[in-house]
Amino acid sequence: MKTGGAASASPDVIVLFSGGLDSLLSALLLREQGLVVRCWHACSPFFGKSGAVDFWRETYGLDVHTEDVSEDFVAMLLQGPAHGFGKALNPCVDCKIHLLRQARAYMEATGAKALASGEVPGQRPMSQRRDAMQLISREAGVTDILVRPLGARLLAPTKPEREGLVDRSRLASMAGRGRSGQLALAARFGLKVIPTPGGGCRLTERENVRRYWPLFTNSISPSAADFALANLGRQFWARCGQVSFWLCVGRNREDNERIVAAAQAGDALLRLRDMAGPTALARGGTHWPEKALLEAARLTAGFSPKALACGEEAAVDILVDGREQTIQARPGRDGFFVGPQPFTLVKEERKAYFPTSR
Ligand code: SF4
Repeated sequence: MKTGGAASASPDVIVLFSGGLDSLLSALLLREQGLVVRCWHACSPFFGKSGAVDFWRETYGLDVHTEDVSEDFVAMLLQGPAHGFGKALNPCVDCKIHLLRQARAYMEATGAKALASGEVPGQRPMSQRRDAMQLISREAGVTDILVRPLGARLLAPTKPEREGLVDRSRLASMAGRGRSGQLALAARFGLKVIPTPGGGCRLTERENVRRYWPLFTNSISPSAADFALANLGRQFWARCGQVSFWLCVGRNREDNERIVAAAQAGDALLRLRDMAGPTALARGGTHWPEKALLEAARLTAGFSPKALACGEEAAVDILVDGREQTIQARPGRDGFFVGPQPFTLVKEERKAYFPTSR
Protein backbone atom coordinates (compact mmCIF):
# COMPACT_ATOMS: atom_id res chain seq x y z
CA MET A 1 0.00 0.00 0.00
CA LYS A 2 1.64 3.23 -1.11
CA THR A 3 0.99 6.42 0.76
CA GLY A 4 1.99 10.02 0.37
CA GLY A 5 1.40 13.61 1.38
CA ALA A 6 2.62 15.74 4.25
CA ALA A 7 0.85 14.96 7.52
CA SER A 8 0.00 17.22 10.44
CA ALA A 9 -0.05 15.66 13.92
CA SER A 10 -3.15 13.88 15.30
CA PRO A 11 -6.13 14.81 13.15
CA ASP A 12 -9.61 14.94 14.73
CA VAL A 13 -11.41 13.96 11.54
CA ILE A 14 -10.46 12.11 8.35
CA VAL A 15 -12.35 13.37 5.29
CA LEU A 16 -12.76 11.12 2.25
CA PHE A 17 -11.51 13.56 -0.32
CA SER A 18 -12.06 13.02 -4.04
CA GLY A 19 -10.78 16.45 -5.02
CA GLY A 20 -14.32 17.46 -6.04
CA LEU A 21 -16.29 20.40 -4.65
CA ASP A 22 -18.46 18.38 -2.26
CA SER A 23 -15.64 16.75 -0.35
CA LEU A 24 -13.73 20.04 -0.36
CA LEU A 25 -16.68 21.89 1.22
CA SER A 26 -17.09 19.12 3.79
CA ALA A 27 -13.47 19.50 4.84
CA LEU A 28 -13.82 23.29 5.04
CA LEU A 29 -17.03 23.12 7.10
CA LEU A 30 -15.30 20.91 9.65
CA ARG A 31 -12.11 22.97 9.70
CA GLU A 32 -14.18 26.11 10.24
CA GLN A 33 -15.26 24.60 13.58
CA GLY A 34 -11.65 24.44 14.71
CA LEU A 35 -11.27 20.71 14.08
CA VAL A 36 -7.95 19.37 12.81
CA VAL A 37 -8.91 17.87 9.45
CA ARG A 38 -6.89 15.50 7.33
CA CYS A 39 -8.10 14.52 3.88
CA TRP A 40 -7.73 10.94 2.67
CA HIS A 41 -7.45 10.65 -1.10
CA ALA A 42 -7.64 7.25 -2.81
CA CYS A 43 -5.76 6.61 -6.05
CA SER A 44 -6.14 3.85 -8.64
CA PRO A 45 -6.02 3.59 -12.43
CA PHE A 46 -9.65 4.80 -12.42
CA PHE A 47 -9.63 7.77 -10.07
CA GLY A 48 -7.33 9.88 -7.96
CA LYS A 49 -4.82 12.65 -8.57
CA SER A 50 -1.82 12.04 -6.38
CA GLY A 51 0.02 14.81 -8.24
CA ALA A 52 -2.46 17.41 -6.98
CA VAL A 53 -1.50 17.24 -3.29
CA ASP A 54 0.66 20.38 -3.47
CA PHE A 55 -2.10 22.23 -5.35
CA TRP A 56 -4.69 21.35 -2.70
CA ARG A 57 -2.36 22.42 0.08
CA GLU A 58 -1.44 25.71 -1.57
CA THR A 59 -4.94 26.56 -2.85
CA TYR A 60 -7.14 25.40 0.03
CA GLY A 61 -4.65 24.87 2.86
CA LEU A 62 -5.58 21.19 3.06
CA ASP A 63 -3.48 18.42 4.55
CA VAL A 64 -4.01 15.52 2.10
CA HIS A 65 -2.84 11.95 2.55
CA THR A 66 -2.96 9.80 -0.60
CA GLU A 67 -3.37 6.06 -0.63
CA ASP A 68 -2.98 3.70 -3.56
CA VAL A 69 -5.96 1.33 -3.40
CA SER A 70 -5.39 -0.15 -6.87
CA GLU A 71 -4.80 -3.83 -6.18
CA ASP A 72 -7.75 -4.33 -3.82
CA PHE A 73 -10.03 -2.26 -6.03
CA VAL A 74 -9.12 -4.20 -9.17
CA ALA A 75 -9.69 -7.49 -7.33
CA MET A 76 -13.19 -6.31 -6.35
CA LEU A 77 -13.92 -5.19 -9.89
CA LEU A 78 -12.81 -8.46 -11.47
CA GLN A 79 -14.75 -10.53 -8.98
CA GLY A 80 -17.87 -8.53 -9.78
CA PRO A 81 -19.32 -5.95 -7.40
CA ALA A 82 -21.93 -7.41 -5.04
CA HIS A 83 -24.19 -4.37 -5.50
CA GLY A 84 -23.90 -4.09 -9.27
CA PHE A 85 -22.79 -1.42 -11.68
CA GLY A 86 -24.05 2.02 -12.58
CA LYS A 87 -24.57 3.09 -16.17
CA ALA A 88 -21.06 2.17 -17.26
CA LEU A 89 -18.51 0.06 -15.37
CA ASN A 90 -18.80 2.03 -12.13
CA PRO A 91 -19.46 -0.14 -9.07
CA CYS A 92 -20.37 2.89 -6.93
CA VAL A 93 -21.91 1.17 -3.91
CA ASP A 94 -19.11 -1.39 -3.59
CA CYS A 95 -16.58 1.33 -4.29
CA LYS A 96 -17.85 3.48 -1.42
CA ILE A 97 -17.91 0.52 0.94
CA HIS A 98 -14.41 -0.39 -0.10
CA LEU A 99 -13.02 3.13 0.30
CA LEU A 100 -14.77 3.75 3.60
CA ARG A 101 -13.30 0.55 5.06
CA GLN A 102 -9.84 1.65 4.06
CA ALA A 103 -10.40 5.17 5.31
CA ARG A 104 -11.62 3.78 8.61
CA ALA A 105 -8.42 1.75 8.94
CA TYR A 106 -6.47 4.95 8.31
CA MET A 107 -8.58 6.86 10.84
CA GLU A 108 -7.85 4.24 13.48
CA ALA A 109 -4.14 4.27 12.65
CA THR A 110 -3.95 8.05 13.10
CA GLY A 111 -6.05 8.18 16.27
CA ALA A 112 -8.73 10.38 14.65
CA LYS A 113 -12.23 10.10 16.11
CA ALA A 114 -14.47 10.52 13.06
CA LEU A 115 -14.77 10.10 9.33
CA ALA A 116 -16.51 12.53 6.99
CA SER A 117 -17.54 12.46 3.35
CA GLY A 118 -19.03 14.86 0.82
CA GLU A 119 -22.17 12.84 0.14
CA VAL A 120 -25.49 14.65 -0.19
CA PRO A 121 -28.72 12.66 0.26
CA GLY A 122 -30.51 12.15 -3.05
CA GLN A 123 -27.73 13.60 -5.16
CA ARG A 124 -26.67 10.47 -7.06
CA PRO A 125 -29.05 7.73 -8.15
CA MET A 126 -26.87 4.77 -7.22
CA SER A 127 -24.89 5.53 -4.10
CA GLN A 128 -26.54 8.59 -2.54
CA ARG A 129 -30.11 7.43 -2.14
CA ARG A 130 -30.84 7.35 1.58
CA ASP A 131 -31.24 3.56 1.63
CA ALA A 132 -27.98 3.11 -0.29
CA MET A 133 -26.18 5.51 2.05
CA GLN A 134 -27.36 3.49 5.05
CA LEU A 135 -26.34 0.21 3.42
CA ILE A 136 -22.91 1.60 2.54
CA SER A 137 -22.31 2.85 6.09
CA ARG A 138 -23.47 -0.44 7.58
CA GLU A 139 -21.38 -2.68 5.33
CA ALA A 140 -18.33 -0.47 5.74
CA GLY A 141 -18.74 -0.54 9.53
CA VAL A 142 -18.87 3.26 9.83
CA THR A 143 -22.54 3.91 10.63
CA ASP A 144 -21.95 5.83 13.82
CA ILE A 145 -18.68 7.53 12.97
CA LEU A 146 -19.32 8.84 9.46
CA VAL A 147 -20.42 12.48 9.33
CA ARG A 148 -21.78 13.88 6.08
CA PRO A 149 -21.37 17.62 6.66
CA LEU A 150 -23.29 18.81 3.58
CA GLY A 151 -26.48 16.94 4.45
CA ALA A 152 -25.91 16.29 8.17
CA ARG A 153 -28.89 18.24 9.55
CA LEU A 154 -31.24 16.08 7.49
CA LEU A 155 -29.65 12.86 8.72
CA ALA A 156 -29.63 11.12 12.10
CA PRO A 157 -26.95 12.53 14.45
CA THR A 158 -23.81 10.42 14.53
CA LYS A 159 -21.64 9.74 17.56
CA PRO A 160 -19.14 12.57 16.83
CA GLU A 161 -22.13 14.95 16.75
CA ARG A 162 -23.87 13.53 19.82
CA GLU A 163 -20.67 13.62 21.85
CA GLY A 164 -19.84 17.17 20.82
CA LEU A 165 -16.71 16.59 18.74
CA VAL A 166 -18.59 18.00 15.74
CA ASP A 167 -21.04 20.90 16.15
CA ARG A 168 -24.04 19.73 14.17
CA SER A 169 -25.64 23.18 14.19
CA ARG A 170 -22.78 24.46 12.02
CA LEU A 171 -23.21 21.77 9.38
CA ALA A 172 -25.44 22.04 6.29
CA SER A 173 -28.79 20.59 5.25
CA MET A 174 -28.42 20.01 1.52
CA ALA A 175 -30.32 17.36 -0.40
CA GLY A 176 -31.03 16.47 -4.00
CA ARG A 177 -29.27 17.12 -7.25
CA GLY A 178 -29.23 20.94 -7.29
CA ARG A 179 -25.91 22.69 -6.88
CA SER A 180 -27.01 26.09 -5.57
CA GLY A 181 -26.28 25.20 -1.93
CA GLN A 182 -22.75 24.07 -2.75
CA LEU A 183 -22.06 27.14 -4.89
CA ALA A 184 -23.35 29.48 -2.17
CA LEU A 185 -21.13 27.75 0.37
CA ALA A 186 -18.15 27.95 -1.99
CA ALA A 187 -18.81 31.70 -2.28
CA ARG A 188 -19.02 32.05 1.52
CA PHE A 189 -15.62 30.36 1.82
CA GLY A 190 -14.30 32.72 -0.86
CA LEU A 191 -13.15 29.90 -3.12
CA LYS A 192 -11.51 31.27 -6.22
CA VAL A 193 -10.91 27.85 -7.78
CA ILE A 194 -14.09 25.77 -7.76
CA PRO A 195 -13.58 22.12 -8.68
CA THR A 196 -16.19 20.00 -10.45
CA PRO A 197 -18.75 18.27 -8.17
CA GLY A 198 -17.03 14.87 -8.03
CA GLY A 199 -13.40 13.94 -8.40
CA GLY A 200 -13.74 12.40 -11.88
CA CYS A 201 -13.91 8.64 -12.34
CA ARG A 202 -12.94 6.89 -15.55
CA LEU A 203 -15.26 3.97 -14.82
CA THR A 204 -18.24 6.24 -15.50
CA GLU A 205 -17.06 7.20 -18.99
CA ARG A 206 -18.05 5.07 -21.96
CA GLU A 207 -14.85 5.60 -23.89
CA ASN A 208 -12.82 4.32 -20.99
CA VAL A 209 -15.09 1.35 -20.44
CA ARG A 210 -14.44 0.33 -24.04
CA ARG A 211 -10.72 0.44 -23.26
CA TYR A 212 -11.04 -1.64 -20.09
CA TRP A 213 -13.46 -4.29 -21.27
CA PRO A 214 -11.00 -6.45 -23.26
CA LEU A 215 -9.06 -6.94 -20.01
CA PHE A 216 -12.08 -8.81 -18.64
CA THR A 217 -12.73 -10.95 -21.69
CA ASN A 218 -9.26 -11.91 -22.90
CA SER A 219 -8.36 -14.34 -20.11
CA ILE A 220 -5.27 -12.48 -18.98
CA SER A 221 -5.89 -12.02 -15.20
CA PRO A 222 -5.30 -8.27 -15.45
CA SER A 223 -3.39 -6.34 -12.81
CA ALA A 224 -3.74 -2.71 -11.78
CA ALA A 225 -0.77 -1.96 -14.06
CA ASP A 226 -2.75 -3.41 -16.98
CA PHE A 227 -5.69 -1.11 -16.29
CA ALA A 228 -3.24 1.80 -16.08
CA LEU A 229 -1.87 0.84 -19.51
CA ALA A 230 -5.40 0.67 -20.88
CA ASN A 231 -5.70 4.39 -20.07
CA LEU A 232 -2.96 5.23 -22.57
CA GLY A 233 -2.84 5.73 -26.32
CA ARG A 234 -4.86 3.76 -28.84
CA GLN A 235 -5.84 0.27 -27.79
CA PHE A 236 -5.74 -2.78 -30.07
CA TRP A 237 -6.37 -6.45 -29.49
CA ALA A 238 -6.05 -9.64 -31.52
CA ARG A 239 -6.97 -13.14 -30.60
CA CYS A 240 -5.84 -16.52 -31.96
CA GLY A 241 -7.76 -19.27 -30.20
CA GLN A 242 -7.08 -18.84 -26.49
CA VAL A 243 -4.10 -16.54 -27.00
CA SER A 244 -4.54 -12.76 -26.89
CA PHE A 245 -2.27 -10.02 -28.16
CA TRP A 246 -2.55 -6.51 -26.75
CA LEU A 247 -0.93 -3.50 -28.41
CA CYS A 248 -1.03 0.07 -27.13
CA VAL A 249 0.01 2.76 -29.67
CA GLY A 250 0.87 6.31 -28.56
CA ARG A 251 -1.07 9.25 -30.00
CA ASN A 252 1.39 12.00 -29.14
CA ARG A 253 4.68 12.65 -27.38
CA GLU A 254 3.11 12.52 -23.91
CA ASP A 255 1.51 9.14 -24.65
CA ASN A 256 4.79 7.84 -26.03
CA GLU A 257 6.63 8.82 -22.86
CA ARG A 258 3.98 7.27 -20.64
CA ILE A 259 3.99 4.10 -22.70
CA VAL A 260 7.74 3.74 -22.28
CA ALA A 261 7.34 4.31 -18.52
CA ALA A 262 4.59 1.65 -18.39
CA ALA A 263 6.75 -1.09 -19.93
CA GLN A 264 7.45 -4.01 -17.65
CA ALA A 265 9.52 -7.19 -17.93
CA GLY A 266 8.41 -9.27 -20.90
CA ASP A 267 6.93 -6.32 -22.85
CA ALA A 268 8.14 -5.25 -26.28
CA LEU A 269 8.48 -1.59 -27.31
CA LEU A 270 8.17 -0.70 -31.00
CA ARG A 271 9.44 2.45 -32.73
CA LEU A 272 10.15 3.44 -36.30
CA ARG A 273 13.87 3.50 -37.00
CA ASP A 274 14.23 6.30 -39.55
CA MET A 275 11.19 8.54 -39.24
CA ALA A 276 8.86 10.13 -36.75
CA GLY A 277 6.01 7.97 -35.50
CA PRO A 278 4.40 6.55 -32.40
CA THR A 279 5.86 4.36 -29.71
CA ALA A 280 3.87 1.16 -29.20
CA LEU A 281 3.90 -1.36 -26.40
CA ALA A 282 3.14 -5.05 -26.92
CA ARG A 283 2.23 -6.41 -23.49
CA GLY A 284 4.09 -9.69 -23.05
CA GLY A 285 5.58 -9.20 -26.52
CA THR A 286 8.65 -11.27 -25.57
CA HIS A 287 6.52 -14.33 -26.10
CA TRP A 288 4.71 -13.24 -29.24
CA PRO A 289 5.22 -15.25 -32.44
CA GLU A 290 6.90 -13.54 -35.36
CA LYS A 291 3.58 -13.01 -37.18
CA ALA A 292 2.07 -11.06 -34.29
CA LEU A 293 5.18 -8.89 -33.95
CA LEU A 294 5.12 -8.20 -37.69
CA GLU A 295 1.46 -7.14 -37.47
CA ALA A 296 2.29 -4.93 -34.48
CA ALA A 297 5.09 -3.33 -36.50
CA ARG A 298 2.72 -2.76 -39.45
CA LEU A 299 0.18 -1.06 -37.21
CA THR A 300 2.80 1.06 -35.46
CA ALA A 301 4.10 2.24 -38.84
CA GLY A 302 0.48 2.72 -39.95
CA PHE A 303 0.18 5.61 -37.46
CA SER A 304 3.19 7.42 -38.92
CA PRO A 305 1.94 9.82 -41.62
CA LYS A 306 5.44 9.84 -43.12
CA ALA A 307 5.64 6.06 -43.36
CA LEU A 308 2.16 5.94 -44.89
CA ALA A 309 3.00 8.63 -47.43
CA CYS A 310 6.18 6.79 -48.36
CA GLY A 311 4.22 3.68 -49.25
CA GLU A 312 7.35 1.55 -48.77
CA GLU A 313 8.23 -0.92 -46.06
CA ALA A 314 9.41 0.84 -42.92
CA ALA A 315 12.10 -0.30 -40.50
CA VAL A 316 10.55 -0.82 -37.06
CA ASP A 317 12.86 -1.39 -34.08
CA ILE A 318 11.49 -3.77 -31.50
CA LEU A 319 13.05 -3.64 -28.05
CA VAL A 320 12.48 -6.81 -26.06
CA ASP A 321 14.08 -7.18 -22.63
CA GLY A 322 17.01 -4.95 -23.61
CA ARG A 323 17.60 -6.68 -26.98
CA GLU A 324 16.71 -4.89 -30.18
CA GLN A 325 15.61 -6.41 -33.43
CA THR A 326 14.39 -4.66 -36.56
CA ILE A 327 11.44 -5.73 -38.70
CA GLN A 328 10.64 -4.42 -42.17
CA ALA A 329 6.89 -3.80 -42.21
CA ARG A 330 4.50 -2.30 -44.75
CA PRO A 331 2.48 0.37 -42.87
CA GLY A 332 -1.19 -0.54 -42.48
CA ARG A 333 -4.08 -0.29 -40.06
CA ASP A 334 -6.14 -3.15 -41.43
CA GLY A 335 -6.26 -6.78 -40.51
CA PHE A 336 -4.94 -8.60 -37.48
CA PHE A 337 -5.55 -6.09 -34.66
CA VAL A 338 -8.90 -4.48 -33.92
CA GLY A 339 -9.82 -1.50 -31.73
CA PRO A 340 -12.29 -1.45 -28.85
CA GLN A 341 -15.85 -2.48 -29.65
CA PRO A 342 -18.82 -0.10 -29.33
CA PHE A 343 -20.11 0.62 -25.83
CA THR A 344 -23.52 -0.92 -26.57
CA LEU A 345 -21.85 -4.26 -27.29
CA VAL A 346 -19.67 -3.95 -24.22
CA LYS A 347 -22.76 -3.36 -22.12
CA GLU A 348 -24.44 -6.47 -23.49
CA GLU A 349 -21.33 -8.52 -22.81
CA ARG A 350 -21.04 -7.05 -19.33
CA LYS A 351 -24.53 -8.30 -18.51
CA ALA A 352 -23.59 -11.82 -19.60
CA TYR A 353 -20.22 -11.67 -17.85
CA PHE A 354 -21.67 -10.40 -14.56
CA PRO A 355 -25.21 -11.83 -14.68
CA THR A 356 -26.14 -10.56 -11.22
CA SER A 357 -25.23 -6.96 -11.99
CA ARG A 358 -27.60 -4.42 -13.50
S1 SF4 B 1 -17.99 7.22 -9.60
FE1 SF4 B 1 -16.14 5.91 -9.48
S2 SF4 B 1 -15.01 6.69 -7.70
FE2 SF4 B 1 -17.10 7.48 -7.55
S3 SF4 B 1 -18.19 5.99 -6.28
FE3 SF4 B 1 -18.53 5.41 -8.42
S4 SF4 B 1 -16.92 3.91 -8.87
FE4 SF4 B 1 -16.29 5.00 -7.00
